[in-house]
Amino acid sequence: MQGKVETLEHPDVKIHIYTPPDEGFLVNTTIFELADRLIVVDGQIFQRFAREVGDLIEDLRKPIDRFVLTHNHPDHYSGFEHLTQRFPGVQLAALTSVRDYLVRTGQKVLDVRRGLFGEEIAKQLVVPDAVIVPGELVISGVRFLFQEFTDAEAEHTLTITLPDQGVALVSDLVGGTGDHLFTVQPHFDGWIAVLEKIRLDTARHGLKTLIVGHGASVGPDALPANIEYLKAAKAAYVSSAKADEFVAAVSASMPGRAPEAWLNFSSQMLYGHIAP
Ligand SMILES: [Zn+2]
Repeated sequence: MQGKVETLEHPDVKIHIYTPPDEGFLVNTTIFELADRLIVVDGQIFQRFAREVGDLIEDLRKPIDRFVLTHNHPDHYSGFEHLTQRFPGVQLAALTSVRDYLVRTGQKVLDVRRGLFGEEIAKQLVVPDAVIVPGELVISGVRFLFQEFTDAEAEHTLTITLPDQGVALVSDLVGGTGDHLFTVQPHFDGWIAVLEKIRLDTARHGLKTLIVGHGASVGPDALPANIEYLKAAKAAYVSSAKADEFVAAVSASMPGRAPEAWLNFSSQMLYGHIAP
């Protein structure tokens, strides 16, 4: 296996976080292993890493309750082509807003990404065939809190909080303190407001671990650093007419953030050079 797996052990649930190598953009797939079933969240960008996730699922030897997609970005849904073929009959669940976005735009986005990254991107969109309604649900004795956030890193994002375990899966709404954030749209103020809300929720539930969309999990102390980043990125956006000026301005105000490739890619989206 080329990717890595980190496991958070709790009495009623084990949480396995699969992270591919750098070339797979460190997109996480998180497997909630309950007593009698698995819930698999997000599906990789490249099929070869979705296959590694499939191997990991098989090793756990439990039925998959469902696949879940957190938000409407292709680095998280492309790999469901492989996973839904490999595990037929398992539903892919998403927020209604995410499903509707994919129905409208998902295939076009995949086609553009295939032009950029080639055959490892899904050929055919998998449209979510189950809906997640925000609220609280107890699954195999574990409390799950589903929440929807809009106009932040993506148009629509689902977060999954396990309050009794002190863990929240916040996907691309939060990044590592040393990482560039995916500022692919100028939703800086909306995203900052979402992070302030997550900060309050984190304190209220006493959360210790935030599972992010790309790379290693973080603690709540990462939230101020994320807000600081977005303020700097907003200032860079306001003062930059072109993508390369934005990249230079962010790099100058946030030195030490990496990887450069994430910032470059985001800037291409932010300035409309890659669309959708
Ligand atoms: Zn992502």
